Amino acid sequence: MVFLSYRADTVAIQTTRGGILTHLPSPSQALCHCTDCKKITGSAYSTNIVIPSEGFEVTSGKPKSWKKKADSGESIETFFCGDCGTTMWRETPTFGDNKAFKVGVLDTLSGFNDAKPDLELYAPQRASWLQPVAGATQLKGMPGSEEV
Ligand SMILES: [Zn+2]
Repeated sequence: MVFLSYRADTVAIQTTRGGILTHLPSPSQALCHCTDCKKITGSAYSTNIVIPSEGFEVTSGKPKSWKKKADSGESIETFFCGDCGTTMWRETPTFGDNKAFKVGVLDTLSGFNDAKPDLELYAPQRASWLQPVAGATQLKGMPGSEEV
């Protein structure tokens, strides 16, 4: 099992399984409806917080990763626990020195409650039976793409 921690000011995330989320530090909280996120989550979308790499550390265990070329042409690397297979975060130059951290890794329901998305990525690929999140900016693709 891989354990992670993230600290910024008084904020602490410790996860996976054994973690406590006290507060979400992320200025960007995003659902992603892209095909990749559907596959890696096995669900309709991924729920992400974008957190700076600084302050983030793997405290125990060694994540596995795999890399592919995203439709932007940039590489995107997915980090997961080799024991349980849980996808924990993704990295791509598109996010700069940040990680798109999967909120489902957090141990507390408050993590999801605090992660109300301000962005929906790849909104045109949203499953037809889902509604947009009220107040969330709807983007055609990754951050920087046009609004839809
Ligand atoms: Zn995605």
